[in-house]
Amino acid sequence: MTDFDEAAGELAATGRRFDARGWVLGTSGNFSTVVAHSPLRIAITRSGVHKGALAPADVIELDGTGAILRGGGGPSAETALHLELIASRAAGAVMHTHSIWATFLSDRGAEAGGIAIEGYEMLKGLAGVRTHEHREWIPVLENDQDMLRLSGVVRRVLLDHPACHAFLLRRHGLYTWGATLQDAVRHVEILEFLLESVGRARYGAARPEEAEPWRS
Ligand SMILES: [Zn+2]
Repeated sequence: MTDFDEAAGELAATGRRFDARGWVLGTSGNFSTVVAHSPLRIAITRSGVHKGALAPADVIELDGTGAILRGGGGPSAETALHLELIASRAAGAVMHTHSIWATFLSDRGAEAGGIAIEGYEMLKGLAGVRTHEHREWIPVLENDQDMLRLSGVVRRVLLDHPACHAFLLRRHGLYTWGATLQDAVRHVEILEFLLESVGRARYGAARPEEAEPWRS
Protein backbone atom coordinates (compact mmCIF):
# COMPACT_ATOMS: atom_id res chain seq x y z
CA MET A 1 0.00 0.00 0.00
CA THR A 2 1.40 3.42 -0.95
CA ASP A 3 1.40 6.47 1.30
CA PHE A 4 -1.39 7.89 -0.85
CA ASP A 5 -3.53 4.74 -0.48
CA GLU A 6 -3.07 4.85 3.27
CA ALA A 7 -3.97 8.55 3.41
CA ALA A 8 -7.06 7.98 1.22
CA GLY A 9 -8.28 5.22 3.53
CA GLU A 10 -7.79 7.39 6.60
CA LEU A 11 -9.60 10.38 5.06
CA ALA A 12 -12.52 8.15 4.04
CA ALA A 13 -12.80 6.79 7.58
CA THR A 14 -12.67 10.35 8.93
CA GLY A 15 -15.54 11.34 6.64
CA ARG A 16 -17.74 8.56 7.94
CA ARG A 17 -16.97 9.50 11.56
CA PHE A 18 -17.62 13.20 11.07
CA ASP A 19 -20.82 12.51 9.12
CA ALA A 20 -22.07 10.39 12.01
CA ARG A 21 -21.61 13.44 14.26
CA GLY A 22 -23.48 15.78 11.87
CA TRP A 23 -20.42 17.92 11.14
CA VAL A 24 -20.31 17.46 7.31
CA LEU A 25 -23.91 17.02 6.15
CA GLY A 26 -25.04 17.29 2.53
CA THR A 27 -21.60 16.77 0.86
CA SER A 28 -20.22 19.74 2.84
CA GLY A 29 -16.69 19.94 4.24
CA ASN A 30 -13.37 18.70 2.92
CA PHE A 31 -10.22 17.12 4.32
CA SER A 32 -6.64 16.91 3.16
CA THR A 33 -3.39 15.40 4.34
CA VAL A 34 0.18 15.75 3.12
CA VAL A 35 1.52 12.62 1.37
CA ALA A 36 5.00 14.00 0.57
CA HIS A 37 6.66 17.30 1.42
CA SER A 38 9.28 17.87 -1.27
CA PRO A 39 7.89 18.18 -3.81
CA LEU A 40 4.54 18.67 -2.10
CA ARG A 41 1.83 16.09 -2.77
CA ILE A 42 -1.47 16.06 -0.89
CA ALA A 43 -4.46 13.73 -0.66
CA ILE A 44 -7.77 15.65 -0.60
CA THR A 45 -11.44 14.72 -0.74
CA ARG A 46 -12.97 15.41 -4.13
CA SER A 47 -15.88 17.77 -4.59
CA GLY A 48 -19.54 16.76 -4.30
CA VAL A 49 -19.21 13.47 -2.44
CA HIS A 50 -21.23 12.75 0.68
CA LYS A 51 -18.73 12.30 3.49
CA GLY A 52 -20.74 9.50 5.07
CA ALA A 53 -20.30 7.49 1.85
CA LEU A 54 -16.70 8.55 1.28
CA ALA A 55 -14.51 5.81 -0.24
CA PRO A 56 -10.75 5.88 -0.87
CA ALA A 57 -11.58 6.34 -4.59
CA ASP A 58 -13.17 9.69 -3.69
CA VAL A 59 -9.79 11.01 -2.54
CA ILE A 60 -7.55 12.57 -5.18
CA GLU A 61 -3.89 13.48 -5.20
CA LEU A 62 -2.72 17.02 -6.02
CA ASP A 63 0.65 18.70 -6.34
CA GLY A 64 1.57 21.96 -4.61
CA THR A 65 -0.10 24.04 -7.33
CA GLY A 66 -3.42 22.19 -7.02
CA ALA A 67 -2.96 20.20 -10.24
CA ILE A 68 -4.40 16.65 -10.19
CA LEU A 69 -1.81 13.85 -10.10
CA ARG A 70 -4.16 10.96 -9.43
CA GLY A 71 -7.91 10.30 -9.27
CA GLY A 72 -11.03 11.48 -11.05
CA GLY A 73 -13.51 14.25 -10.46
CA GLY A 74 -12.75 17.78 -9.41
CA PRO A 75 -10.85 18.79 -6.31
CA SER A 76 -12.72 20.81 -3.72
CA ALA A 77 -13.26 24.46 -4.59
CA GLU A 78 -11.54 25.21 -1.31
CA THR A 79 -8.26 23.52 -2.27
CA ALA A 80 -6.54 26.92 -2.27
CA LEU A 81 -7.28 27.32 1.44
CA HIS A 82 -5.84 23.88 2.21
CA LEU A 83 -2.65 24.70 0.31
CA GLU A 84 -2.42 28.06 2.09
CA LEU A 85 -2.69 26.42 5.53
CA ILE A 86 -0.18 23.70 4.63
CA ALA A 87 2.27 26.42 3.54
CA SER A 88 1.75 29.04 6.23
CA ARG A 89 1.22 26.71 9.24
CA ALA A 90 3.47 23.85 8.10
CA ALA A 91 0.33 21.72 8.53
CA GLY A 92 0.39 18.00 7.82
CA ALA A 93 -3.40 17.91 7.49
CA VAL A 94 -6.30 20.34 7.14
CA MET A 95 -9.92 19.73 8.16
CA HIS A 96 -12.98 21.75 7.18
CA THR A 97 -16.41 21.07 8.72
CA HIS A 98 -19.88 22.68 8.55
CA SER A 99 -21.44 21.99 11.94
CA ILE A 100 -24.43 23.90 13.25
CA TRP A 101 -22.52 25.29 16.26
CA ALA A 102 -19.57 26.48 14.21
CA THR A 103 -21.96 28.16 11.79
CA PHE A 104 -24.07 29.71 14.54
CA LEU A 105 -21.11 31.09 16.49
CA SER A 106 -19.39 32.33 13.32
CA ASP A 107 -22.31 34.69 12.86
CA ARG A 108 -22.49 35.74 16.50
CA GLY A 109 -18.73 36.40 16.61
CA ALA A 110 -18.43 38.17 13.27
CA GLU A 111 -18.87 41.70 14.62
CA ALA A 112 -16.09 41.20 17.20
CA GLY A 113 -13.89 39.50 14.60
CA GLY A 114 -13.77 36.21 16.48
CA ILE A 115 -14.73 34.02 19.41
CA ALA A 116 -12.76 33.79 22.66
CA ILE A 117 -12.84 30.50 24.56
CA GLU A 118 -11.19 30.06 27.95
CA GLY A 119 -11.57 28.08 31.15
CA TYR A 120 -12.44 24.73 29.57
CA GLU A 121 -10.50 21.54 30.29
CA MET A 122 -10.96 20.42 26.67
CA LEU A 123 -8.72 23.30 25.52
CA LYS A 124 -5.82 21.03 26.51
CA GLY A 125 -6.61 18.92 23.44
CA LEU A 126 -5.23 21.73 21.26
CA ALA A 127 -1.55 21.34 20.34
CA GLY A 128 0.74 23.05 22.85
CA VAL A 129 -2.00 23.99 25.33
CA ARG A 130 -1.22 22.83 28.88
CA THR A 131 -3.94 24.39 31.03
CA HIS A 132 -7.66 25.17 31.02
CA GLU A 133 -6.66 28.80 31.74
CA HIS A 134 -5.53 29.13 28.12
CA ARG A 135 -7.48 31.71 26.10
CA GLU A 136 -8.10 30.55 22.54
CA TRP A 137 -9.08 33.18 20.00
CA ILE A 138 -10.84 31.79 16.94
CA PRO A 139 -10.91 34.49 14.25
CA VAL A 140 -14.06 34.89 12.14
CA LEU A 141 -13.59 35.80 8.47
CA GLU A 142 -16.30 36.94 6.10
CA ASN A 143 -17.27 34.17 3.68
CA ASP A 144 -16.20 34.61 0.05
CA GLN A 145 -16.72 32.50 -3.09
CA ASP A 146 -13.47 33.88 -4.57
CA MET A 147 -10.99 31.38 -3.14
CA LEU A 148 -7.85 33.23 -4.24
CA ARG A 149 -9.04 36.42 -2.53
CA LEU A 150 -10.10 34.44 0.54
CA SER A 151 -6.68 32.73 0.66
CA GLY A 152 -5.08 36.17 0.90
CA VAL A 153 -7.36 37.10 3.79
CA VAL A 154 -6.56 33.80 5.53
CA ARG A 155 -2.82 34.46 5.15
CA ARG A 156 -3.12 37.88 6.81
CA VAL A 157 -5.34 36.59 9.65
CA LEU A 158 -2.89 33.77 10.39
CA LEU A 159 -0.06 36.30 10.59
CA ASP A 160 -2.12 38.47 12.95
CA HIS A 161 -2.98 35.47 15.17
CA PRO A 162 0.11 33.25 15.18
CA ALA A 163 -1.13 31.14 18.12
CA CYS A 164 -4.59 30.30 16.77
CA HIS A 165 -5.49 26.68 16.01
CA ALA A 166 -8.49 27.40 13.80
CA PHE A 167 -10.68 30.01 12.14
CA LEU A 168 -14.34 30.27 11.22
CA LEU A 169 -15.82 31.43 7.94
CA ARG A 170 -18.98 33.42 8.67
CA ARG A 171 -22.21 31.41 8.27
CA HIS A 172 -20.08 28.72 6.65
CA GLY A 173 -17.92 26.57 8.91
CA LEU A 174 -14.70 25.69 10.68
CA TYR A 175 -11.13 25.29 9.43
CA THR A 176 -8.49 23.67 11.60
CA TRP A 177 -5.21 21.88 10.98
CA GLY A 178 -2.48 19.87 12.69
CA ALA A 179 1.04 18.55 12.34
CA THR A 180 -0.43 15.14 11.46
CA LEU A 181 -3.82 13.86 10.33
CA GLN A 182 -4.43 12.55 13.86
CA ASP A 183 -3.72 16.01 15.30
CA ALA A 184 -6.07 17.71 12.84
CA VAL A 185 -8.86 15.20 13.53
CA ARG A 186 -8.40 15.72 17.28
CA HIS A 187 -8.61 19.48 16.79
CA VAL A 188 -11.96 19.11 15.03
CA GLU A 189 -13.28 17.00 17.91
CA ILE A 190 -11.97 19.43 20.54
CA LEU A 191 -13.17 22.56 18.74
CA GLU A 192 -16.61 21.16 17.93
CA PHE A 193 -16.98 20.23 21.61
CA LEU A 194 -15.87 23.72 22.72
CA LEU A 195 -18.04 25.57 20.20
CA GLU A 196 -21.12 23.62 21.24
CA SER A 197 -20.33 24.14 24.93
CA VAL A 198 -19.80 27.88 24.46
CA GLY A 199 -22.85 28.20 22.21
CA ARG A 200 -25.11 26.46 24.69
CA ALA A 201 -23.68 28.39 27.67
CA ARG A 202 -23.93 31.80 26.04
CA TYR A 203 -27.11 31.41 24.02
CA GLY A 204 -29.03 28.58 25.66
CA ALA A 205 -30.27 30.97 28.37
CA ALA A 206 -33.63 32.67 28.22
CA ARG A 207 -31.89 36.02 27.89
CA PRO A 208 -28.81 35.46 25.72
CA GLU A 209 -27.96 39.17 25.74
CA GLU A 210 -26.76 38.63 29.32
CA ALA A 211 -23.80 36.55 28.19
CA GLU A 212 -21.54 37.77 25.40
CA PRO A 213 -18.14 37.77 27.15
CA TRP A 214 -16.16 38.57 24.02
CA ARG A 215 -17.80 42.02 23.91
CA SER A 216 -16.40 43.01 27.33
ZN1 LIG B 1 -17.10 24.80 3.20
